[in-house]
Amino acid sequence: MSQQIKQEIEKLREDIRRHDYLYYVLSRPEISDKEYDDLMKRLKELEEKYPQLKTEDSPTVRVSGGVLEGFKTIRHRQKMYSLDNTYSFEELKDWDKRVARGLRAGEKIDYVIEHKIDGVSANITYEKGRLSAGATRGDGETGEDVTQNIKTIRAVPLVLMGSAVPDFIEIRGEVYMEIKDFKALNKEKEKEGEVLFANPRNATSGSIKLLDSGLVAKRRLNFFAHSLGENSGLSIATQWEYINKLKEWGMRTNPYSRLCKDLDEAIGICKEWEDKREKLSYEIDGMVIKVNSLSQQRRLGFTQKSPRWAVAYKYAARQATTKVKRIIVNVGRTGVITPVAELEPVACGGVTIKHATLHNFDEIKRLNIGAGDRVLIQRAGEVIPQIVKVVEKKGKRGFIIPKNCPVCNGKIVKEKEGDVAYRCINPSCAAHLFRGLLHFSGRSAMDIQGMGESVVLQLCRKGMVKDFADIYFLKKEDLLKLELFKEKKAGNLIEAVEKSKKQPLSRLIFGLGVRHVGEKAAYVLAQKFHSLDNLMKAKYEDLRKIYEVGPVIAQSIADFFGQESTRQLIKKFKAAGLEAREEIRSVKRSLITGKTLVFTGEMEDFSRNEAERLVREMGGNASSSVSKNTDFVVAGGNPGSKYENAKKMGVKIISEKEFKEMIK
Ligand code: AMP
Ligand code: ZN
Repeated sequence: MSQQIKQEIEKLREDIRRHDYLYYVLSRPEISDKEYDDLMKRLKELEEKYPQLKTEDSPTVRVSGGVLEGFKTIRHRQKMYSLDNTYSFEELKDWDKRVARGLRAGEKIDYVIEHKIDGVSANITYEKGRLSAGATRGDGETGEDVTQNIKTIRAVPLVLMGSAVPDFIEIRGEVYMEIKDFKALNKEKEKEGEVLFANPRNATSGSIKLLDSGLVAKRRLNFFAHSLGENSGLSIATQWEYINKLKEWGMRTNPYSRLCKDLDEAIGICKEWEDKREKLSYEIDGMVIKVNSLSQQRRLGFTQKSPRWAVAYKYAARQATTKVKRIIVNVGRTGVITPVAELEPVACGGVTIKHATLHNFDEIKRLNIGAGDRVLIQRAGEVIPQIVKVVEKKGKRGFIIPKNCPVCNGKIVKEKEGDVAYRCINPSCAAHLFRGLLHFSGRSAMDIQGMGESVVLQLCRKGMVKDFADIYFLKKEDLLKLELFKEKKAGNLIEAVEKSKKQPLSRLIFGLGVRHVGEKAAYVLAQKFHSLDNLMKAKYEDLRKIYEVGPVIAQSIADFFGQESTRQLIKKFKAAGLEAREEIRSVKRSLITGKTLVFTGEMEDFSRNEAERLVREMGGNASSSVSKNTDFVVAGGNPGSKYENAKKMGVKIISEKEFKEMIK
């Protein structure tokens, strides 16, 4: 291969590294996201074409991802200590005196003061300037090998910049999540009906320990370098110099670190951030004060647990005590049931608090909390307040998890053994009717044109629709009461609703939104049972006999169709005249009958769902990941990692055009 290609690859890597640095470390991008994506795309292309030129430190490793079975452990070259905490300036002054006593009389002591970032500490090893390992703190001696995950963090350079990089260095710092990214992640989780993370730190530690680095890459973890471990070939004399070196190497450091000439100055800075911390884009739980001189640090040394030359000053959490009036349960938008403590209103960090989340029912047991107790609550960042502990047991214990939904009185179901989430699965429950209806009317389900968010929201709010079947009884006069609805629009919607009555059973099953029943499972069920009546009669055991239906899906279907509210709903569907028939696969035979296909990238003529439905209709299998059993991968524009996997595994790749030929 030509020297030219090699040079182009090198140039691309160099450019991407520079733009990563400008964007993630300096927050001063010079090119648009699109231009950046194009560079990355070109580099990926070249590396695919010339795999012999791939390297472990190429920026493409940040996105390629891989799934591990578990983490190995890594021994830190130098132990990772924790910090002693102080909670008052008195304690800080005592510490300052101890430091002075540990050194020669009259020695001048400078301090560096830094934010104590509320994240997860990590030890990142660079050998000859190249990132060679990333580990969690673990027990301080050994941690988990999370190298792949660390590499997804764009603020962490894969190669250190500059010429004066040490031979070997352990750079330590904090992996954390910006508050806005934490909120976005929780929003995403809520949409999926999953249990939320309590705070950014939990979200970070949950993310850094995911085994699929592709998922980690989506979590937008961030990093501040703040400490030094084992090193060789580094000549610096102070923490302050170290911070400046880190910057030279392109590591991200916290912009608010300061050099102080004495403790009083540091105390002033602690006071300054006490209130200002509310405005930061990340959470801190205190400040860290470090002796600046490395020679002084060496002479002071360590205790069992922590350095004598550094200390944390912790801010009092925004806490308050109050009484629990009662424990109630809240039904989320996807039906998840969360216990909530109703409190006697109390002021905390400038706001009045009336509720605190208990996250899940296990938390009630863990806290051993009961209505009537006095509790210590705390506000962490902008999240809903939490209960730290019970301070006075006055109430009655033994909270009983309700069997029925407080909103609709439907049965509450525990997802699966070992899971902490309970949910209301009644699709007509007002607490999650809105989401359910949107799904029901969606393109892959009943496909009712014009039944968008604003219409559904109004129908629910005005009480015009109390379950899915109600939409089939809507009259034109009803619709004219909605915002922006005129004769024509109302007529169109009525027509679309009418048309949807002819949708096949598989779409209706999918539209019901039964947990774990996606399009594919709905199709299989429709093929096997032919009618809703049959499906309602099916027992768990009958469902389990179907090859494609695993235990979790089977249980979920049995629970769902066993409910009285489901029976009522189906009766209503019938009364409305829904046909819910399924054409039984008189398989349209084609070249894909019996074959397993995987789609990647965007196609011009079909959506992903449409294409997969076509495959199923022709007796083929549409799978979501490439394996040995895959017969073809259909690659559209901008194909993803499945394309690379297919190449690696030697699976046949075809274009959209070839796919169309095959289904003729
Ligand atoms: P703790 O976990 O309370 O013992 O506090 C020690 C932890 O604080 C360390 O493991 C670090 O991960 C973390 N930390 C956060 N910010 C800093 C900082 N600026 N310097 C040192 N440690 C920090
Ligand atoms: Zn309910």
